[in-house]
Amino acid sequence: MIHSVQIPPITPVVSTPSKKEGFQTLHQRTHRRPPSAKRSEGRPLKGIPLDRTWPVLSALPLALTELEQDEVFPSLSANQISSYLDESIRFGRESAEGYAYDGNLTRWMDRMIHAGVRIRFADRKNGNHTEWVRAQYRRKPPSIYIYRFSLEQLKQFFHRSGYRVSENDLIALHLFHEWFHHLEYSRLGRTDLQLPKAVKKRWGPLTLKQPLPRLREIAAHAFTQKAMDLPWFPLWLDHLLLLSEQGWSKTRIREHFHQIKNRYRQIMEPEERR
Ligand SMILES: [Zn+2]
Repeated sequence: MIHSVQIPPITPVVSTPSKKEGFQTLHQRTHRRPPSAKRSEGRPLKGIPLDRTWPVLSALPLALTELEQDEVFPSLSANQISSYLDESIRFGRESAEGYAYDGNLTRWMDRMIHAGVRIRFADRKNGNHTEWVRAQYRRKPPSIYIYRFSLEQLKQFFHRSGYRVSENDLIALHLFHEWFHHLEYSRLGRTDLQLPKAVKKRWGPLTLKQPLPRLREIAAHAFTQKAMDLPWFPLWLDHLLLLSEQGWSKTRIREHFHQIKNRYRQIMEPEERR
């Protein structure tokens, strides 16, 4: 699975982005970069009160923005949406049991490497400005790729927000997300196959059912939040970064988040809108 975010539309639109570009040259440009002690200077991620500096958006509306990108989303009922959001977040959080990050990145990287996962820091320029890939997991062989530009971008974002963040924690933020995808294959089972499939089409007595792959992303964010004890849902950071890098003002971001919250509220409390 690829951990990425897309530029959100101003009005709700369901998008199905292409995710495979830029894969071929990956190996040629990757190499290990072991974490250095120096990089751990800086404030722990979980202790940075980012919510004092930026408009806030909580886990459920954020998870909704993820689910909206699934192909079958338009055919889901409000009850189904509510249940998918709750269950995928629950699945991610519960899966983080026994994976509490204590700030010791080296120990965690060792644990992952001993579990047979290769960790690579890669240079990669993103080809377009509508999607950023921060990190990704590949199954064969099990590998986690973390893109340096993403680490640098996050570091700069925190710097602009007035904080010097632990760079080890930024690496961990990427690692834990992808580690969850590894666990989906090695231990947990894929999130979208653990939860009920959605009905895509009916022909008389026949129904075509389809899993919702975006549930995996929601669960991965929930897993990362729990494992790293973060006060916010990690997808929030992706949205903030994307929008602020696009030059959006805080006011505009706040309005955008407000629209998402309204969308969420309309789905959860439809009777209120009548
Ligand atoms: Zn992911």
